[in-house]
Formats: sequence, structure tokens, C-alpha cells
Amino acid sequence: MRPYEEALQQLLSDVGTLSAGEVCETTIVESIGRVLAEDIVSPMNVPPKDNSAMDGYALKMQEPSEDETWLVTATRLAGDASEITVNSGDAVRIMTGAEVPDGADTVIMQEEIERDGDLIKVVGQHKLGENIRRAGNDIAQGKTIIAKGTCLDASHLGLLASVGVAKVRVYRKPVVALLSTGDELTEPGTPLEAGAIYNSNRYFLFPMLQRLGCEIIDFGTIKDDREAISNAFTDASRQADFVITTGGVSVGDADYVKEVLDELGSIDFWKVAIKPGKPFACGSLSKNQDENAGYLFGLPGNPVSAIVTFMLLARPALQQFSGQAVEGLSMLPARLSASVKKRPGRMDFQRANYSMSDEGELIVVPFNSQSSGVLSSIAESNCFIVLERDSGNVAEGSRVSILPFRQWL
Ligand code: AMP
Ligand code: MG
Repeated sequence: MRPYEEALQQLLSDVGTLSAGEVCETTIVESIGRVLAEDIVSPMNVPPKDNSAMDGYALKMQEPSEDETWLVTATRLAGDASEITVNSGDAVRIMTGAEVPDGADTVIMQEEIERDGDLIKVVGQHKLGENIRRAGNDIAQGKTIIAKGTCLDASHLGLLASVGVAKVRVYRKPVVALLSTGDELTEPGTPLEAGAIYNSNRYFLFPMLQRLGCEIIDFGTIKDDREAISNAFTDASRQADFVITTGGVSVGDADYVKEVLDELGSIDFWKVAIKPGKPFACGSLSKNQDENAGYLFGLPGNPVSAIVTFMLLARPALQQFSGQAVEGLSMLPARLSASVKKRPGRMDFQRANYSMSDEGELIVVPFNSQSSGVLSSIAESNCFIVLERDSGNVAEGSRVSILPFRQWL
């Protein structure tokens, strides 16, 4: 059995030679979830000019009049760039976001002004320059605001828009052929025959792949038949960068995925020392290294094993392929609310819920069933308790590492 880190490193180095490569241009609206193929350098200052952070009065505080009153000479609304100059003793009524007129050095918020006709008096103590948002304070012209390899989210789209960028260059999407194996599998919406179960795996893999920015080719469900699996793999590997299967990777009598992978291409490894998820096959679907054939991830059939191996192994590989930096497992420290059972030998990813205690400490409560077939353990949890390979049982109150996972679902 391969330790997790070693399996992941090998997987990344195998997939590392592949790459989505091609670049296309897209509008920022359509760029959500895509991976940026260029550094974005801001062509401008944001804000472009000094502007007011408050509704109030812009004035020259450095040159106060003797009786500390100012004469309101003009009004400036946001968007108004008409020529206004503030002389000493003058004040301009100004709204949030409006450019600070020439000559003014400070904006006093209107709540701190007493106004009598066109005359205002400033109440209280004020700092020179207050309530002015300086040009380039948010983003300076020439600054790299988003790095190549970033998977664009809503905040990035807003940032691009704020500097006037309407189109960006992104990598093409990885193409993934998704197929389930299993004679027992039935699609939801059809009646369940004796001995059958509903196919749940493809319904969580689909959205998780979409979320990763993949284009999916649906190969449906393939029977546990050597030839049918071989034909499907051959067909899928011609159309897709990756072929993802569930089921049939174990040592049962109808488990043909490994055999077929070995026959068509090469198996990299098929046992990873993680729990859940031990049977996991991967490898190229071609014997010819140079051929641009698909790469296969054979996930286990048990739903929890399938989701965990997808999150921990397939996901980082797909991220790397699509041009993103692979994020390591960002774990948090938490205190165990109850003891957990663990046998040394495999790295455990136990389903659990964490929350903050009144004392500000993270407390983690293990889910009551850790069986790899219990999909509700994922649906009702928000993190894994990650227990190292050599660890045995862990006592209540111990400090453990947790890995939040709902962001991937
Ligand atoms: P296998 O890896 O094919 O031996 O499957 C292991 C277990 O997972 C069996 O109980 C299967 O019935 C179940 N299983 C396999 N594929 C799926 C699927 N797509 N959805 C739900 N359960 C599955
Ligand atoms: Mg099966």
C-alpha cells in the first residue's frame, strides 16, 4: 500500500507532463471558475482620483478662517467632474464617491457640521486629510492584481471589472469522461429491481467536476463486463483528457477496471493507504507514452470512498492539469469531543463536524458512522478528522487536525 503523500506526488508527476495547454479569450462574465493563463496587471489606479468616503463638506483645513466658518460655494455629486476650486474659507458640499475638488485637503462628514444658510461650522476635532480615499489606494497602476494560474472566483471578476478589464485569457477546460460500473446500478427516477441500488456516485461527481472547471462527457453506466469496459475505456480515452470511473477496482469477481487498464495502458498503483478509499487505480490508457491518450482515475464504488479519493487524489491532479497551483491540505487544529477508533496502517479521514466553542477553540464531533458506504456521513459533516498512518485510537480531549471539505462539494 502506498502512503498518501507518496501516491499523490507520483500522481502529480505523472499528470504533470500533461497540460490543458491551449489558451482562449473569454469575457469576464464567462470567466467564472476558469483558470487564468496570464498575469493581470492593473492599467490604472483605483480609485482613479482622490474621492470622498462620506457625504459631507470638502474644505481647506490647513487654512481655516478666523471664526472657523466656511462658505458653501458649490455642490459636487458622484460622477460630477466639473471644474471647482476650493479656496481658503470655501467649502464644497460633497457626496460619497465624488472626486475631491482641487484645493480641498479634508472632508468633514455632514453629521459633524452645523449649517446655517450657506455658512457651515465644523464641530469637534478633525485630522487633516480625513475621509478622503486616495487615488491608487485600492489598486496602484502597474500592480499585478491576479496571478496566472488563479481559478477565478466572484471577487476576481469584480476586481477585473474595477480596473476596466473586460476580457481575459484562460486555459481550456480539462475534458473528463465520467462513467460508472456495476450491474446493480439504477438511475434515480426508475423503479428499483431486486438486487439493485441507485447510482449515487455520478450525482456528486458531476457537480464536483463542474466546480473544478471541467467539461464532462457522460458515459453513463457500464455493465460489469470485461469487453464492455474495455470498449468504453478505448472510446472515452480518445475523447477526453481524463476518464473517471467508479466501482470495479477491488478484488471481487466482477472487478475488471484494473485488468482493462493494465491491458490498454499501464497501472500506476492501485492501493493507497488511506481510509476510506483503499482501492484506487490510476494510469495512462495508452501503452505509447507519446500518444495523447486519456489518463484514468478508477475510484472505488463505495460512495464515501469514491468521494474521498476524488477529493484527495483526483482533484489535485485535475487542478494541476488545468494550470492551477495545487493547494496542499490546509488543516486546522481542533479538540476531539469524543474518543475515536483507529487502527495503525492507513491515514484516516473520519467524517466529523467542527464548530467554535465559547472559549474560542475549535471542537470537533465525530460522525456516528464511519462506514465507507454511508453517504450521509459526508452530507451531514463539514470536515474530516485526519489521523496519521501510525496513529492508534485517539482519546477524547486530544488535539487533532481537521480538514474542512464543504468548499469542494
Ligand atoms: P465495487 O467497488 O464495484 O465492488 O463497489 C463497492 C460497493 O459500492 C458496492 O456495494 C456497490 O454496490 C457500491 N457502488 C458501486 N458503484 C456505485 C454507485 N455508482 N453508486 C452507489 N453505490 C455504488
Ligand atoms: Mg462493482
